Amino acid sequence: MTGPSRILAALAALLATFAVPAAAQDETRWSFAIHGGAGTMSRADMTPERRAAYEAALQRALDAGAAVLRDGGTAMDAVEAAIVLMEDDEKFNAGRGAVFTWEGRNELDAAVMDGRDRSAGAVTGVTSIRHPIRLARAVMADGRHVFLSGAGAEEFARDHELETAGPEWFATDARREALQRMKAEKVSALDVDLKFGTVGAVALDRAGNLAAGTSTGGMTGKRWGRIGDAPVIGAGTYADNRSCAVSATGWGEYFIRVGVAQEICTRLRLAGRTTLPELEDGAEAQASDTIQLTEPIVQNVSDAVLAEVAELGGDGGVIVLARSGAAVFSFNTSGMYRGRATSEGVNEVAIFADE
Ligand code: ASP
Repeated sequence: MTGPSRILAALAALLATFAVPAAAQDETRWSFAIHGGAGTMSRADMTPERRAAYEAALQRALDAGAAVLRDGGTAMDAVEAAIVLMEDDEKFNAGRGAVFTWEGRNELDAAVMDGRDRSAGAVTGVTSIRHPIRLARAVMADGRHVFLSGAGAEEFARDHELETAGPEWFATDARREALQRMKAEKVSALDVDLKFGTVGAVALDRAGNLAAGTSTGGMTGKRWGRIGDAPVIGAGTYADNRSCAVSATGWGEYFIRVGVAQEICTRLRLAGRTTLPELEDGAEAQASDTIQLTEPIVQNVSDAVLAEVAELGGDGGVIVLARSGAAVFSFNTSGMYRGRATSEGVNEVAIFADE
């Protein structure tokens, strides 16, 4: 065996020691998770009213997605149902309430991915579409392309009769002030925003299919047509039924460099095998060779990839939903707006790292 093969075989053996065999698809099982951005959050700045408002917004989005799944709807419908609510909520950096570019505009990015066949749709730099997540989904459904930008994406949206909105719909005073402060004080986006407010959702439906979606305004003061990780398939958004669904939030440049979402899914796909038969006889692993992706496995893998982001100097977080239904959060900031709900009765929203 070569060095890398030996390491993979050792990893498989290690995982097999605390894994249990994968169960057959349980048609009552579903699982759902959302985020509304990660970042520097201090309890001192979080008044009870502010906290209650965020928790209520997260709960609403969580409930909307969970209801779709409970009723037997698709993972993709659940992702869309939660994200459109957060796009309309100015507390989050997506749709209404998106951050401003250097030139004082709101340019929106979004992506979706379907774990069944890894079909995907993404858009960047759109300025007049009320729900960029729906536009990304329309790109995926159309199927000819994966990633559309700017004026072309807007034209595609018009052809598909998606709802439009004027600049005044997206612009809020708080985000405008953040841009003004950034320019006046010559500080970075992180100094004025302190947190990333991107929104995302990941779902496992009762048919056993995974989906992921992410929507964002990017980072305050972005220039030159800058694109973050959110709409980049494999960086901020990824879904593959063989492993997991991921949506990220954070300093996009680092998430692109690490390829965070796909890296987590790839590691989990390999971790989900009891054996690595291709190392022995060139045969592909059979479904029966899979092991259950338990919560500790999913957490370890997600934390390891987030550690790579931190090593390069980046920060942020991910929500990860494994094909087993394990829903995990991993972030290296002091907080992340987040929530999860499962058919086993889990239903929780949280903000700070220690809760
Ligand atoms: N990841 C987004 C970006 O870099 C920002 C965010 O998470 O809020 O564009």
